[in-house]
Amino acid sequence: MRNFEKSNKLDGVSYDVRGPVLEEADRMQEEGIRILKLNTGNPAPFGFDAPNEVVRDMIMNVRNSEGYSDSKGIFSARKAIEQYCQVKGFPNVTINDIYTGNGVSELISMCMQGLLNNGDEVLVPMPDYPLWTASVSLAGGNPVHYICDEQAEWNPDIDDIKAKVTPNTKAIVLINPNNPTGALYPKEILEQIVEIARQNDLIIFSDEIYDRLVMDGLTHIPIATLAPDLFVVTLNGLSKSHRVAGFRCGWMVLSGNKKHVKGYIEGLNMLASMRLCSNVLSQQIIQTALGGYQSVDDLLLPGGRVYEQREFIYNAINDIPGLSAVKPKAAFYIFPKIDVERFNIYDDEKFVLDFLHEHHILLVHGGGFNWTQPDHFRIVYLPKMEDLKITANKCRKFHTDKNKR
Ligand code: PLP
Repeated sequence: MRNFEKSNKLDGVSYDVRGPVLEEADRMQEEGIRILKLNTGNPAPFGFDAPNEVVRDMIMNVRNSEGYSDSKGIFSARKAIEQYCQVKGFPNVTINDIYTGNGVSELISMCMQGLLNNGDEVLVPMPDYPLWTASVSLAGGNPVHYICDEQAEWNPDIDDIKAKVTPNTKAIVLINPNNPTGALYPKEILEQIVEIARQNDLIIFSDEIYDRLVMDGLTHIPIATLAPDLFVVTLNGLSKSHRVAGFRCGWMVLSGNKKHVKGYIEGLNMLASMRLCSNVLSQQIIQTALGGYQSVDDLLLPGGRVYEQREFIYNAINDIPGLSAVKPKAAFYIFPKIDVERFNIYDDEKFVLDFLHEHHILLVHGGGFNWTQPDHFRIVYLPKMEDLKITANKCRKFHTDKNKR
């Protein structure tokens, strides 16, 4: 019999947020060990319920959602997204520039598949949400990582971006607010990225799925609003802000100057048609979700669960000798730095596996976010406070013990 191997297209493609470390955690769970899984930003299992009105809307619309919709999505959803973009100041967006997707994930893959030829380069942040790197590779492109600088609150390093542009660079990806660092980019940085894109004819892809999850009275600036003369693709969705990651509800918006991207848009339309449409029942809730008051706001203010948990984990990590972390401004992740020399850590995946085996908590190593040094890991700070306290205590114990060895 023939052996069937995975396709060559998957060479070099990885997605470690659900990779080997999760497989090991699952294996341990099968043995009856309780594992606290802090590997995915999935609010619902941690007791963050979806807003009642959103769930009610979905239930009311089951009968209306039995058929396929237009490939780009139903009118009410796209109209609501268009209005959301108008309020935020996106330039040149009509309902035809909006595509709904089965989560942002599907659209990330679609927009890379539609754009890249073998060898095309895309600038991707490091660390990144690894689906971007994986999708560039799967589409035949070369992900070229630009550094986000921990010393500068994890903002993109503009000189590094400039140094990495080549004649093969087609696009730059931004994740703002950022996963895994929790950074929120200021206007000056965004403007400089726009200028690089302008000078080098790059498409900007901006993943803004955390735009409604910003703390400390700060404001998120969509990069599209600073680039009316460029072509920008902005991605967003309800998984995080409305705690409905399982509904698979996302969208992308094409804004700015579209004169020179007609061929690419044709490709996107074809890919959207080939998957027929995104889940229609999930599209039904977009209008209700985006209209008016955003229920996530209460979680992000002092006294709110996400805010208080961010305060706790930030202080707890910085209190452990040998660990340090920049304070996240948005989303629900923190990306601590480990003093690797002090603890003799040379392999971050091994570090995460050791922690899993000893303390039954699943983290993701920095390498899972394409961070090349073995000196970072990501904590999702969504679990309730008592679990976060256990996590922080075990982290402290692990590192104290390691210091003694
Ligand atoms: N983009 C970023 C930056 C994310 O962190 C995630 C999920 O963690 C996604 C996209 C995927 O979102 P969706 O659930 O809409 O597929």
